[in-house]
Amino acid sequence: QSIQQISKSPYLNQSTATPAETRNALHLQGLSPAKVESFETQKKRALAQLRSKSSDIEKYVFLAWLRNTNVRLFYGLVTDQLEETLPLIYTPTVGAACQNYSSIYPFLAPPGQPDGLFLSINDLPNLKQIIQNYKPYPQDPSLTPQIAVITDGSRILGLGDLGVGGMGIPVGKLQLYVAGAGVDPRRTLPITLDLGTNNEEKLKDEFYLGLRQKRVGDDKFFPFVDAVLEALTSLYPKLLIQFEDFSSEHAFQLLDKYQPTKFCFNDDIQGTGAVILAGFMNAISLAGIPAKEHKILFFGAGSAAVGVAKQLAAYFVNDHGMSEDQAREMVWLVDSKGLVTLDRGDKLAEHKLYFARKDNKGAQYPDIASVIEHVKPTALFGLSSQSGAFSEDVLKSMAALNERPIVFPLSNPAYQAECSFEQAMIHTNGKVIFASGTAFPKYTDPKTGLMSAPGQGNNMYIFPGLGLGGILAQPSNISDRLIYSAARACANALTVEERGQGLLYPVLPRIRQVSAEVAAAVVAESVAENTATNEEAINIVKKHDRQALLDFVTRNMWTTESAEEEINSFTS
Ligand code: NAP
Ligand code: MN
Repeated sequence: QSIQQISKSPYLNQSTATPAETRNALHLQGLSPAKVESFETQKKRALAQLRSKSSDIEKYVFLAWLRNTNVRLFYGLVTDQLEETLPLIYTPTVGAACQNYSSIYPFLAPPGQPDGLFLSINDLPNLKQIIQNYKPYPQDPSLTPQIAVITDGSRILGLGDLGVGGMGIPVGKLQLYVAGAGVDPRRTLPITLDLGTNNEEKLKDEFYLGLRQKRVGDDKFFPFVDAVLEALTSLYPKLLIQFEDFSSEHAFQLLDKYQPTKFCFNDDIQGTGAVILAGFMNAISLAGIPAKEHKILFFGAGSAAVGVAKQLAAYFVNDHGMSEDQAREMVWLVDSKGLVTLDRGDKLAEHKLYFARKDNKGAQYPDIASVIEHVKPTALFGLSSQSGAFSEDVLKSMAALNERPIVFPLSNPAYQAECSFEQAMIHTNGKVIFASGTAFPKYTDPKTGLMSAPGQGNNMYIFPGLGLGGILAQPSNISDRLIYSAARACANALTVEERGQGLLYPVLPRIRQVSAEVAAAVVAESVAENTATNEEAINIVKKHDRQALLDFVTRNMWTTESAEEEINSFTS
């Protein structure tokens, strides 16, 4: 371990907090002012700087720079100020960052410090070599990546094809694995595949940094993804791979292909499915109608909607003894052409077929109002990216049909949400059981002064814990049962007080506890289904001691305190 490496490492170099002796040992005297600061002072200054920036995108750039130059300080700030920083490092700000990625890129990290790993279609012959070039924290070769988040930028949030700008997503998501579940930041690997872009604006933008060509066809896409996975798993056999923000069609095809045998999952499909299921489990106990009597309408029929619908159907089968057909018939999908039915007259995309209605007898339901009148839903989910689609009329009909209508406008970012919490409260007279995709402000009833908090169906309640559980148990693959166990654990993670307040999800500051519960459930389930391979995890589960399992999970979480001990052992 050379002095040079330690002093240049954004993980080991503690900047203004480096003690005098360490400065001497590393030949750093004179390279910064004399003052040796505490971590607390460093965090305080960083927060003041952050708040001094006038726009969210400037805050994003500032935080990226901090993460790429001082990892521990960055996570210290994020952990202390979770509610303020999450919207900056992930949605909604990450959307703007992805749109502007090529313009801000040089200002996110010092030259030579990678923001993530870019693999272009032209790299096909050298994938293994290039993957090994990615060493942002080169201090210890045993710290191989444990989790990769991988996108091709083709469907970023609800913002469409952003080409290499998509990098903001794997980078951001992995920060949430660290903050939310204590995955070691050094062992995370953000990857963006550059297969071209079909975004005309990007192709014309002089600053665009990706390949200036149209996306390659499926004949090149699938073999390339194959080759990337092959290279990754041969270098890092224990790596968990999370797919993110691929176009819907590809997302489903990749998941179908790899889920049975590879250690991977797709958060847009399975993570979303699990978190919405968790909220729904808690919602139906508030709604007071037997599970079997629910009718669930999805507005939007993309990867997210179908992923959620499949998770809900599995729940009705598992927990309510329904047949697969009965469960499927509780779901109606609406896409841009109206109610998705088998006899609508157009060729349906593959992923819509499973829930396409067979029972509509040739009638057409082209808009949401006609669908609601036809279906009489108890629950309405929005996954369409269509701002305002849950209009006053829609909300009023949901309230007329139901004592407690379940309305989840889940599209991201906020300006694409189907309705806001305020609108939902006003137009249902406060009867709504609500969760959204982005965080909405609390609502205060002007007459009663009563304040209610909206639920946020934030995938962050699932994927960090699911990832950590996977890393700890090392199951051969991530089965549907593991995903389901994560959803169940999340739903059950509400405290008595949270339940008393009518919340559907735990409050965000408890994210590490929730992640520990989710991870423990995933470890336990993978041992139960006999796919876990990590002996330590298997032995702990076999003790049937819940607290011992939670302790095992918590012990394996990275924290800024654990980092401090480790840094000191290196630098003193
Ligand atoms: P997607 O694959 O692009 O799907 C969008 C769907 O909306 C498509 O089925 C599309 O119809 C439909 N649609 C578009 N315009 C419509 C209209 N006017 N009326 C009815 N339907 C319309 O996107 P996705 O990955 O599924 O994501 C959808 C949204 O969910 C995004 O905003 C995303 O941010 C959000 N999301 C939220 C969470 C969360 O809250 N936890 C998680 C994941 C995703 P066609 O099929 O006919 O084109
Ligand atoms: Mn996504």
